[in-house]
Amino acid sequence: MSTIIKTVNPFNNKPIKEYETHTSEQLTRILENSKKAFHTWRQTAIKERCRLLINMAQILEDDKEDLAKLITLEMGKPLAESLSEIEKCVTLCDFYATNADDFLADELIDTDATESFISYDPLGIILAIMPWNYPFWQVLRFAIPTLTAGNTALLKHASNVTGCALAIEKLFERAGYPQGCFTTILVNHDAVEKLIANDLIKAVTLTGSEQAGKAIASTAGKHLKKTVLELGGSNACVVLDDADLDKYMDTIVNARMQNAGQSCIAAKRFIVTENIYDEFLKRFKDKVAALKFGDPMNNQTTIGTLARADLADILKKQIDDSVALGATVVSGNKQDHAFFEPTILTEITSDMPVFKEETFGPVAPIMKVKDAETAFKVASETRFGLGTMVFTQSIDTAQGYIDSIEDGAYFVNELVKSDARLPFGGTKASGYGRELSKEGIHEFVNRKTVFIN
Ligand code: NAP
Repeated sequence: MSTIIKTVNPFNNKPIKEYETHTSEQLTRILENSKKAFHTWRQTAIKERCRLLINMAQILEDDKEDLAKLITLEMGKPLAESLSEIEKCVTLCDFYATNADDFLADELIDTDATESFISYDPLGIILAIMPWNYPFWQVLRFAIPTLTAGNTALLKHASNVTGCALAIEKLFERAGYPQGCFTTILVNHDAVEKLIANDLIKAVTLTGSEQAGKAIASTAGKHLKKTVLELGGSNACVVLDDADLDKYMDTIVNARMQNAGQSCIAAKRFIVTENIYDEFLKRFKDKVAALKFGDPMNNQTTIGTLARADLADILKKQIDDSVALGATVVSGNKQDHAFFEPTILTEITSDMPVFKEETFGPVAPIMKVKDAETAFKVASETRFGLGTMVFTQSIDTAQGYIDSIEDGAYFVNELVKSDARLPFGGTKASGYGRELSKEGIHEFVNRKTVFIN
């Protein structure tokens, strides 16, 4: 039986559209189509698969204004940020169009065989469960390499961005992908569990919360299916006494406030050494005060609403509970429905929710510490492991900490960001597996050993 998914514009709370979920009969047909598509798609030459990536890049480029509007309508980020998201997807297609052939070529290994090599074979149908915060980028950074490796994909997107989910399916169709290669499914959580159990699904990838990660990984584990998990984070931004604030203050504020703070790799804990602390706080406050809230469709707006009102409620509670434990509100902390005023907190201790938990919104807890060593020690006191960033003019000092960072990424004088050329992923409660680069295209393949005597 189908149910209804309703999408709502978080800026004005007006309904956008209603969609019927797929019935189990429809899902059976979708799976069969995807299986059929896999049999021909896996035989398609890699050069041809790469040609379709060029089509995809062109369509994204041609339609970027409309696609950006759809993102903004459904999840409330400022239009300029939505446009950048689509432009980044174009670079992703270009990157794999140029490199996939090399990444997937047989890899010769010298042994006592006459010939031995690794062959990278596709697995079959991969199920992707994706979040709303970068509704195109998160999906395409999985789908572009995974399809190019010869797999087919089913997408279960976050329900609040169902319009984006269907638009992505259309993009693949228009780019010339055979019918069934990429299909958006409209389903609730129970149906996902049943799908994972289905023999036709060979592996699962989830980008989302830790809670969803645990649920999906345990179902997949029960059925011995591989998973890639890209989960939450609480990245530290370490600012040392010699940081160049003139040069990097915009980057630092952006690291927290872009996408209204709704990014897994955002700077969520600022750890600042004492000699620069007062100057840092003053400049941070000024920059945050200059952010312009308004209609995200308006080009002047630099900070939008959160994607749903319940996300703002969660953030409010995390801040209020931290204040009850002694945090000081320097600015912000006002909520109106899904809008949350950018908030700065000081007097932070490691037992507070804003330090211990992931905060998915525009709140910046700022901690003062004695020196670099203490800063890196405090930075590591987290269950999460997506990334750490440090701002300092001493590259030697920054390099001295590379080995001690347990995260998936370490950025010096730059915010933690994804780049198609570099692997992306986390450790600890932030998940496992890698997306993007050569690593990403090898996640959903059978690395087959061939030995010819
Ligand atoms: P979420 O609630 O976990 O939802 C993510 C996706 O999982 C949605 O499609 C959701 O569907 C689905 N889902 C959740 N629980 C499920 C279950 N038990 N069974 C089947 N599907 C389930 O996360 P969110 O609030 O959308 O996104 C924010 C979280 O994602 C943050 O923690 C953020 O850090 C993380 N994230 C991580 C990365 C990364 O690369 N590491 C990137 C972006 C976001 P419904 O919409 O239908 O509930």
